[in-house]
Amino acid sequence: MTALQSDEVDVPSAKKWHKRAIQGALLILAVIVTITAGEWAARRETARQTDSIHRILDLQVLALRGKIGQYTNIPYTAAQHSDVQALLQHPTAERVQRVDLYLQEVSRRVGADALYVLDENGLTLAASNWNSRTSFVGQNYDFRPYFKDAIAGANGFFYAIGATTGEPGLFMSTPVRVAGKPVGVVAIKVGLQEVEESWRKTETPVLLTDERGIIFLSSLFSWTYKATRTLSPTELSWILDHVQYGSNAVFPHMPWEIQHNSGEPGFVSTGAFEEVPHEYLTLSEPLTDFGWTLTVLSDTAPVKHARWGAWATTLLFLLAITSAALYWIQRERAIRQQRSLRKRLEVRVNERTAELQEAHAFRKAMGDSLLVGMRARDLDGRIIYINPAFSDITGYGPGELIGRLPPYPYWHPDNMEKHWLENEAALTGRAELTGFESRIRHQNGSDVYTMVYTAPLIDGSGNHSGWMSSVVDITAQKAAEEQARVHIAKMQRSSRLASMGEMASTLAHELSQPLMALVSYSGAADAYAERGHIELLRETLHEISSQTQRAAEIVSRTRGFVKQHTPGFADCVVNELVTNMLALLRPEIRQQKGRIVTQLTEGLPTIKADKILLEQVVLNLVFNALQAMQDKFPADKVVRIGTGLHEGMIYIRVSDNGPGISPEVAANLFEPFFTTKPEGLGLGLNICRTTVEAHRGRLVFENGANGGAVFTVYLAVPT
Ligand code: ADP
Repeated sequence: MTALQSDEVDVPSAKKWHKRAIQGALLILAVIVTITAGEWAARRETARQTDSIHRILDLQVLALRGKIGQYTNIPYTAAQHSDVQALLQHPTAERVQRVDLYLQEVSRRVGADALYVLDENGLTLAASNWNSRTSFVGQNYDFRPYFKDAIAGANGFFYAIGATTGEPGLFMSTPVRVAGKPVGVVAIKVGLQEVEESWRKTETPVLLTDERGIIFLSSLFSWTYKATRTLSPTELSWILDHVQYGSNAVFPHMPWEIQHNSGEPGFVSTGAFEEVPHEYLTLSEPLTDFGWTLTVLSDTAPVKHARWGAWATTLLFLLAITSAALYWIQRERAIRQQRSLRKRLEVRVNERTAELQEAHAFRKAMGDSLLVGMRARDLDGRIIYINPAFSDITGYGPGELIGRLPPYPYWHPDNMEKHWLENEAALTGRAELTGFESRIRHQNGSDVYTMVYTAPLIDGSGNHSGWMSSVVDITAQKAAEEQARVHIAKMQRSSRLASMGEMASTLAHELSQPLMALVSYSGAADAYAERGHIELLRETLHEISSQTQRAAEIVSRTRGFVKQHTPGFADCVVNELVTNMLALLRPEIRQQKGRIVTQLTEGLPTIKADKILLEQVVLNLVFNALQAMQDKFPADKVVRIGTGLHEGMIYIRVSDNGPGISPEVAANLFEPFFTTKPEGLGLGLNICRTTVEAHRGRLVFENGANGGAVFTVYLAVPT
């Protein structure tokens, strides 16, 4: 996994900061979204609550008005009654009774608490409850505002706790007019307990306050007679004076804190209601004609719940989105990584495949194009690969050879033992590095000569897995060599035959010089003997002996040479050879009055040569040179002999000051028996060339730049 690591290994710090900034922004956004969602939900819930409160308010106002409206006209109707009027004008027991019954009947029918008639002093003359224990009859209510209002000619409307019964109720009154002048009052008391009862059944607190803010009707019992605002002493004394709420003299403040939120209807009241902390959204509806205010409260807990719920939902939603996003990011990243990994792998596989294909193609092309046969074998000798050249050499295709163990089908039946030995040597790593020759049998039955070179086959892990052999077909080479050998032998034979004839002439030519020398040395010896020059005689006899020796040597070499015996090759220093030859020529040179100038290069490599024969070559060349300069003055008779190295060959150059060689002569120069001399044999140069070529050398001539002939013998330096 080295190249396939995670992307996150080396995030640059700028990128990291960028990432952090995005994360921070997203977090802030999430907070804003959550808060907004909460506020939106709260507002929605508030609106819903407000709506619901409004509905309740409307409903309750309607109910209240309905309830009150039921009784509003009862006092007026009663006030018109003749009995009532008569009673107030002239009260009699009989009239009282009649009115009592009338009031009782009406009250019963309309379901009022009480219906009663007061005289102009506030004294109750007749009442629907005339016969009850708490009858109003005889009670004076002149302190009640509803009496005061009615006797003053207006309609009275007053909620209070009954002074007689102790029961709260709504008192409504109207004046009884006689000739347009109030003479008394008809009042009705209506209990609102039913309304209160119905409120108590609802979960939403409802309360009704009077014009001073005192709660006189409430769905919650404990709130009754609590003040929603601070009462002034005047107000308080007014209440006491009119005994509005019975013996209640103190009106504790409602235990709430009021908070007005701008843009929102009503207010929020917070407090421990019934010892439980609550917060209410509170809305009021003033009933101006009654001087009351109806208030409905709605617990804000649902608003909070809605807010919390929205927060929770939003958070959950955001959490889900974040999780999904993270999952998606992770997944995308994983996919990206996988994709890039796959891509990298694909690239590597493709590269590797291309490399392998290239290597394979290269190897195949190499194997196919090789003229050398290639054969790979495993360690057991099983053939695992052959190239086309190997098939060509053996005549067997891969199908016939792959998987084969020795003996192989191309092993020569006459050489089986040798093949086994060679196989053994190759498989044990003992095969000669320089290769070995092996004769095999081609599938077509012909013999094939091969050179086999074997090297260990090392696999990709460095293990020795087998052997690779290259096989060179040397059949043609062998045949050519054989042909050449036969040809050379033939040539040699015929040349020997031809040379037989030449031998006599050659001997005659080659021996003429030593023989002549012998003649002259003998003459000299004779003379020295006669004169008694013993010392000179001995020297001359020594010369005679060595010339005789040389003559014998020449005879033997010439015979051998003609018989094509390998020349007596031995280490030979060219400069020594020249010096030696000059010693032999000394008498001749002296006689010719010629001069030899040598220019011998020191340190030339030793060559392999037949010294005597090569000496004869140089000797012949010097002889010819001297003869060519016969007509020259002795001072001009200079033969130059030089040795040296030229283009890797040792040369011996003999040049003279003679007339040189004309093109006609040059054309036949090396032909046997070609001579321009009257006593010439015309064999010298021919023998020279033959000898030099027998030494694998060349004999060439040219005319010198300043006239004269230049003969050069080139001899190969042994490597
Ligand atoms: P011979 O010396 O018996 O003639 P060679 O084969 O030695 O036979 O020479 C052949 C001929 O080549 C000579 O007759 C002569 O004409 C010519 N020749 C050989 N050497 C020289 C030389 N140094 N200068 C001029 N002519 C030469």
